[in-house]
Amino acid sequence: MNEQTLSTRLERVAAHVPAGARLADIGSDHGYLPVALMRRGAIVAAVAGEVALTPYRAAMRTVHENDLQTRICVRLADGLAAIEAQDGISAISLCGMGGETIRDILEDSKARLNGQERLILQPNGGEQPLRQWLMRNDYRILCEEALRENRFDYEIIVADRTGPVIYTDEELYFGPLLMQARTPAFLDKWQRALRRKQRTLAGFTRARQTMPEEKVQDLTRQIRWISVLLNACEKAHPGHFTG
Ligand code: SAM
Repeated sequence: MNEQTLSTRLERVAAHVPAGARLADIGSDHGYLPVALMRRGAIVAAVAGEVALTPYRAAMRTVHENDLQTRICVRLADGLAAIEAQDGISAISLCGMGGETIRDILEDSKARLNGQERLILQPNGGEQPLRQWLMRNDYRILCEEALRENRFDYEIIVADRTGPVIYTDEELYFGPLLMQARTPAFLDKWQRALRRKQRTLAGFTRARQTMPEEKVQDLTRQIRWISVLLNACEKAHPGHFTG
């Protein structure tokens, strides 16, 4: 992967960045996403924020090698502290971090959000707490996508602050739009997750004395939700699940 050829994951993230955006890519690492978008003329300005020195330097290098230093500002900063009011940021991407980390970044510096920015989030796990934060902060999920690359399952969540919105516990867990669309990537992810959780529960059951009851109940509930979802899909599309 580089600034010319993005991974499938980042390419799908790129597709959700509105044309002509002023993008803040927080946790940018090499800066591939903003540089690729700028090279294509898809965005007009960008900030690449990094908290760690090595990726910050890598982003600086990518920007300079592409002669984009007047269009992309690389900043060494924690989370949304990379964004300044005069940047006029219209979209923020936070990708390739755990969902809880993305949530904490948003929560810790939400005073820097003016509410007009589109959020394009690609958590590596922890989607449920991230969706919970979005709901609690009046963000509506506009688009969701599940994909698999190099044997990893990823989700992309796109949200705007539109006002109060309520999602059910199952919607927060599966994604309100993903659980409606039920794409093959989404169903395959949950089929694999079901097997994994069933194996874990079997282990829990064997070692019941040492396992907190609360944990067992939580896992049992997740297995029930996933089974109900997959059974409904199997009824609607018999034969989808072969493994
Ligand atoms: N966004 C790129 C992607 O999706 O390919 C890079 C993902 S990389 C795995 C995560 C990056 O987030 C790291 O470079 C890390 O230094 C950065 N990061 C983690 N916490 C951060 C924070 N609080 N503020 C800014 N960057 C952060």
